[in-house]
Amino acid sequence: MQHQPSLDYARELDQQDELRSMRDNFIIPVHNGKEQTYLLGNSLGLQPKSARNYIDKILQQWSDYGVEGFFLGDDPWMNYHDHLINPLSTIAGCLPHELSIMNQLTVNLHLMLVSFYRPAGRKRKILCEKKAFPSDQYTFETYVKHLGLDPDDIIMELGPREGEHIIRLEDICQTIEENKDEIALVFWGGLNYYTGQLFDMATMTRVAHESNILIGFDLAHAAGNVELKLHEWDMDFACWCSYKYLNSGPGAVGAVFINEKHHKDPAVNRLAGWWGYDKATRFKMEKGFKPIPTAEGWQLSTPSLLLYACHRAALDQFELAGWNKILSKQKKLNAFLWELLNDLNTAQSEQVIEILTPAQERGCQVSLLMLKNGKVVYDGLIKKGIFVDWREPDVIRLAPVPLYNSFEEVWNFYSTMKELLRD
Ligand SMILES: *Cc1c(COP(=O)(O)O)cnc(C)c1O
Repeated sequence: MQHQPSLDYARELDQQDELRSMRDNFIIPVHNGKEQTYLLGNSLGLQPKSARNYIDKILQQWSDYGVEGFFLGDDPWMNYHDHLINPLSTIAGCLPHELSIMNQLTVNLHLMLVSFYRPAGRKRKILCEKKAFPSDQYTFETYVKHLGLDPDDIIMELGPREGEHIIRLEDICQTIEENKDEIALVFWGGLNYYTGQLFDMATMTRVAHESNILIGFDLAHAAGNVELKLHEWDMDFACWCSYKYLNSGPGAVGAVFINEKHHKDPAVNRLAGWWGYDKATRFKMEKGFKPIPTAEGWQLSTPSLLLYACHRAALDQFELAGWNKILSKQKKLNAFLWELLNDLNTAQSEQVIEILTPAQERGCQVSLLMLKNGKVVYDGLIKKGIFVDWREPDVIRLAPVPLYNSFEEVWNFYSTMKELLRD
């Protein structure tokens, strides 16, 4: 780029930003009487102003109709799921009937193991990333124990090479190929929560399938953050939570993608409940489970309409802004941040920051290994109303998000950081 990065330049980028008014649709938390620079959309996305209206509508429907709210009113609850899967399928890059919006993430991780972990003879290992998010690790460990197997025999972890932070694609592919007679399932995070590394899911899926291995992804940090083409990539399943980049509120309803090729396969086991039962005859309450022949057949319980309402408010924002425009702003915002981070290093006499996130394979999040005064810098940022997060031992994570963050906020982060490093 030709310019010197400056506050004016950041403001100019905001002026040119087609999505700048989207910020007004979100509630920005206030710190010392001033809007926070909230860079924690990777942890809990901010509240769409319309969430309250959508919740009110559910409460109103409940007061007006009681249980008949499922069928009456201008927005019968029975159709609510249909409203959600269309906008979400754009973000996930899949067919609407490949989605089921249900439960929360860790529950869904377990349910996906029920359906897609099928140990047989020697082929019974689960390949996953080393230091996966703890809930994923506990899921694998306890699920395997529940089957009467030994986690040490079954769980195969692959991490970065000695002295490196990111896991190389070539190592993943090689591990899959070399152990194909022993691996039953690859279950991987699409975007690592700690380093921000985005994995090449298309290639991993191709290699797993060539080795006759099922593969699924935990997309907690990928959904609503990066472009996904779940159908085209042909993975077997995926699941995610909706409170991070999808802005659907604390403990929001999660979702699963189940490749349509598995919908009618009787070999796929599942744990069932009445909400997954064939819709036409559900209320006959008959014996013998007959699933809806789509991903919805994996639903168990009567959905929480209050959680649906928040999800809908958030998905509206994605539709309003346009998913492609969101992705394009994400790249620009992130490129600006990256440029400023490089400047932070060159402005110092020694390197002060090591960027853990790979330059090419990333989404909104950047993870910074602080080589000097990490905790002091972090505390200083918070004091100035710049909200990022801290992970032991020395990592600051931040994620400017396209729906409500501005270029000026990225600049604020940088200039504050620069000051703090100078002190
Ligand atoms: C955030 C996150 C979770 C959290 O799971 P919940 O069931 O929603 O609490 C699990 N796995 C990964 C990879 C995450 O990033």
